[in-house]
Amino acid sequence: MRLILLGPPGSGKGVQGELMQKRLGVPRISTGDMFREAIQKKSEESADLRAYLEAGKLVPDAVVLRTVEKRLSHADCANGFILDGFPRTVFQGESLEQMLQKRQLQLDCVLSLEVPTTVIIDRITSRRVCSKCAAVFNVKTSPPPADGVCLKCGGSIIQRSDDCEETVLNRLMVYDEQTKPLKDFYRQRKVLTEITGQGTVEEIHGRILAALEQ
Ligand code: AMP
Repeated sequence: MRLILLGPPGSGKGVQGELMQKRLGVPRISTGDMFREAIQKKSEESADLRAYLEAGKLVPDAVVLRTVEKRLSHADCANGFILDGFPRTVFQGESLEQMLQKRQLQLDCVLSLEVPTTVIIDRITSRRVCSKCAAVFNVKTSPPPADGVCLKCGGSIIQRSDDCEETVLNRLMVYDEQTKPLKDFYRQRKVLTEITGQGTVEEIHGRILAALEQ
């Protein structure tokens, strides 16, 4: 199954993508995670990437498309994938369409997680993540261990530098201007399903599964 998870930052794409990965047995591909990994590994592009991420700006298309194209050619994508954070612009959506056409593949579904902005700001500024395995916590609803050490991998739990309120507001503006138009793009292609992104993780997961069954 080839899926896209669409939705503003903090709408739960990462958590739901992880659950779907286990359920469907296809990899979750998060461009944001790949860029953060490249920054940590101090790759050639890491200084530039860091500047884009810290400002909440979009990484240039050439870098994004190269990264995604390479990842989609890995053997683990043969039976499908869950894209999280890509595409983020109509141009990226069109480029993905071309990548898939080249491989004679089609998208099965685009799930758009719908969450009001006030809830998003509260969720993101309360979010904490493991710097090693990217496990997600929330200081209000699912607090990380008090010692700040991830139980799964021993990594340290941090607040992402782009999760501060100022950058969040910028990321939401970028989402409204550049990513939201993708909803019409996929609606026209009859693959868009909107999912209410409020409620417990399990409730939202249930809504996603019900939508996929249809
Ligand atoms: P995310 O983890 O999806 O919230 O992404 C974090 C940051 O990575 C974004 O604010 C962008 O700076 C960058 N990024 C991730 N995916 C993309 C993309 N498809 N196009 C451009 N920039 C991206």
